[in-house]
Amino acid sequence: MSGSGSKSRTSNEVDAWLATGHRPFVVVISGPSGVGKSSFVKQLLAAGLNLEYSVSATTRARRPHETEGRDEFRRRIDAGEFVEWAEVHGEHYGTLRSEIERRLGAGKNVLLDIDVQGGRAVRRVYKDGVFIFVLPPSLADLEERLRGRATDSDDTIRLRLDNALREIKLVSEYDYAVVNDELRSALDRVASIIVAETCSTSRRPPLVST
Ligand code: ADP
Repeated sequence: MSGSGSKSRTSNEVDAWLATGHRPFVVVISGPSGVGKSSFVKQLLAAGLNLEYSVSATTRARRPHETEGRDEFRRRIDAGEFVEWAEVHGEHYGTLRSEIERRLGAGKNVLLDIDVQGGRAVRRVYKDGVFIFVLPPSLADLEERLRGRATDSDDTIRLRLDNALREIKLVSEYDYAVVNDELRSALDRVASIIVAETCSTSRRPPLVST
């Protein structure tokens, strides 16, 4: 006999397992301000890595009804709807768990660009996420990029450099450290990490043997 009817149960299971592929995962990119995260994110999303960006929810969009926006945000924090959130200059920002889950559920890997505190919070929820820290080639380079961006005052740049030192010291909490020396090759390294992670056996469901 031939055809699928003759297949043993085990080979059907193997076929089903082969068709399943890897479990989609969360990719967190952190690194000091000015290191090049936005440049990375833009190009990574265009690199065909089955990645979707999860934007932060914020009270900002609701400026006309600010108080209402903040109360609503607070309610959602209390309800546990955010994987991570932060208050910056009186505005709340956060990553909605529902936004991540919706993408993972659709088989997409999810890219998050967040700070080290946010990364820690994400790790608590998504232990199997891929955590990548982007480093500058040197602090002098970082300062040059911050100045080159021409968006910050001297005081702000000094503050960003202080924060950068503090963040860089936490690099060992991350799975990977990528130096953004030359953007193209640094991007290639990040893409390689993501591709390798999609091939990890730990990201496939266990294959039940009978
Ligand atoms: P972040 O999002 O981490 O704050 P940006 O993406 O805004 O950083 O990058 C900061 C500045 O550094 C930008 O002007 C960007 O064009 C520049 N930049 C990014 N990557 C590199 C690189 N590899 N070499 C030189 N300049 C870079």
